[in-house]
Amino acid sequence: MIEFEDVTKVYPDGTTAIEEISFTVEEGTTTVLVGPSGCGKTTSMKLVNRLEEPTEGTVYVDGTDNQELDKIDLRRSIGYVIQEIGLFDHLTVGENIATVPELVGWDQSRIDDRVDELLELMDLSPEYRDQYPRELSGGQRQRIGVARALAADPDILLMDEPFGALDPITRDNLQDEFLQIQERINTTILFVTHSIDEALKMGDRIAIFDVGEIVQYDTPAEILSNP
Ligand code: ADP
Ligand code: ADP
Repeated sequence: MIEFEDVTKVYPDGTTAIEEISFTVEEGTTTVLVGPSGCGKTTSMKLVNRLEEPTEGTVYVDGTDNQELDKIDLRRSIGYVIQEIGLFDHLTVGENIATVPELVGWDQSRIDDRVDELLELMDLSPEYRDQYPRELSGGQRQRIGVARALAADPDILLMDEPFGALDPITRDNLQDEFLQIQERINTTILFVTHSIDEALKMGDRIAIFDVGEIVQYDTPAEILSNP
């Protein structure tokens, strides 16, 4: 569960990115933050795993003020997928996926099993394991990015324009696949996009942002019937 309580973020240069934002992402559901560029979506996301710190207000992760949680633990326990995910080019697909399980000390056989399981989940054949990111298409790389974020079975997944750099057909396929995966993993997801279509498709709840604030927070059905 993720809860924002009156959260304000002012950057050191004086830019107010978000102002007194409150919303809750219930366990096992997806909330999409949608709105134009520069309205504070990415900042909100980074406040969850403490890539940024709030100026005022509180971000709760599973009921605990995340300021009380260890930063490194937070980053490792929360999956994070970004646009054109920074896969490590010098590591194979398998090694990329294994990054966090290795950091948290899983033994090798458990890691091997998990990599196989995730390749299957992401609909990639086992041969991809030993390939390098540069040998893959954009859609395949993004699948690996998702697999890497899911590797250590996080309770929470942050997805910042995860399919934004893909062509429309690949994007549509990955959205459909991810919706199916989501049903199997029961992860709490915060998803950022500037596309209202993607928000309506992916979200259980949608937070519509306008410069620094949430102007509507509803289910897709409520938003469609009450725009
Ligand atoms: P979005 O994700 O909706 O595009 P962001 O959260 O990235 O919005 O940005 C919100 C506002 O904060 C913008 O005005 C942006 O320029 C500003 N901003 C983002 N990061 C920084 C930073 N590190 N320093 C100063 N201003 C920033
Ligand atoms: P640092 O060395 O900056 O403290 P870590 O040791 O926590 O970072 O992580 C090493 C790399 O693994 C990071 O560059 C990051 O991209 C990746 N990583 C860490 N945690 C996660 C996560 N939960 N999901 C996806 N990638 C992660």
